[in-house]
Amino acid sequence: MKRIYKLLVLTLAFLITVSCITPAFSIVLIDEVKNVIIMIGDGMGENHLEWTKSELGVELEMDKLPYQGYSKTDSLSGLTDSAAGGTALSCGLHCFNSNLGTLSVLINGHGAIAFNYMNVSEAALKIGKKAGIVTSDVNSGATPASFSVHTYKRELTEEITKQQAECNLDLIWAADNGVSDKKMFEDNGWTYSTTEDELKELDKNKRSFAAIKGNIFYDTGDENDAPLSELTALAIERLDNESGFFLMVEGAHIDKNSHSNIKDGMMNSLVEFDKAVKCAVDFAKEDGNTIVIVTADHETGAITKDENGQYGFTSGDHSKADVPLRLFGSDGLVKNGEHVANKEVGKFIAKKLGYTERFPVMTFNPDFFKELFSAVIASIKD
Ligand SMILES: [Zn+2]
Repeated sequence: MKRIYKLLVLTLAFLITVSCITPAFSIVLIDEVKNVIIMIGDGMGENHLEWTKSELGVELEMDKLPYQGYSKTDSLSGLTDSAAGGTALSCGLHCFNSNLGTLSVLINGHGAIAFNYMNVSEAALKIGKKAGIVTSDVNSGATPASFSVHTYKRELTEEITKQQAECNLDLIWAADNGVSDKKMFEDNGWTYSTTEDELKELDKNKRSFAAIKGNIFYDTGDENDAPLSELTALAIERLDNESGFFLMVEGAHIDKNSHSNIKDGMMNSLVEFDKAVKCAVDFAKEDGNTIVIVTADHETGAITKDENGQYGFTSGDHSKADVPLRLFGSDGLVKNGEHVANKEVGKFIAKKLGYTERFPVMTFNPDFFKELFSAVIASIKD
């Protein structure tokens, strides 16, 4: 009798325990994917997360995603920067980087042959979906440029901005780079905004370009600030439509603060980026047809843990460390603990968006030769 009683108590305890444990994120595999959101923490390595959690005593939303693996950060040459890293993620192909910092363009040898790579924003637009970009960087930064334009050099600020004005994306929200011309964007069918309040009021059917005057990286208390998480939520609301959308969100200041070894700035930017991740995942959970990918283009600052368990920057440059690659809403990109090539991310996005034509794809870029030719002529004249 005593044993039966004990058994009953144990069974009851077991049932109560099981019913109380509901996993934070059960694995949801979406049959029909409508929307894909990629969140890029620029320069964000695994140790950026570990250091931030141990220092601030916070939990991160991206740690709760069901698939937790790593992306390798290779390019065709040298230490991968945001142009080559962004190109791998956006186009599914590697390119050279070094001092050239090619954006979705392959430079073969010494600039002898060049091809444009199609990016996933273009793939989404081609199949009737909307596409947008939100970043804490300026619009012409290497990561947003990788998802919107084709140039052979990341420093071509005016050319990148001009190509963005002429591109077909539905939304580009970034910090003001000082060269975006209101008229140029309006002439190409965009609305042009400079504050978050303006973005809230806009006609949803118009393509929206924003050159934000305040800080996007995190809320600094300034009245002009437009924190990344708030812009992410607003952008999703704007892009959500019957045919689906693709959205890239970048937390650029994880990288910028890591270059300068500014710990607090890096951590605050990372926490804000994680809030933006939560906005995307909350939408995905409610929507039921959205995939969210969280990753980085490369690691910055070579953060390591010493023998006393203390984290710290050991460099002011990019490192070769693999970066987190996390996934919600689907499988097939990365298994737990697995390390995959960065270019697999671009291919996966195109496939999941439902792009059935060939991808990745390179097309011959005649403009490159025009630019090269005029550069040669100019150097002869000098
Ligand atoms: Zn960097």
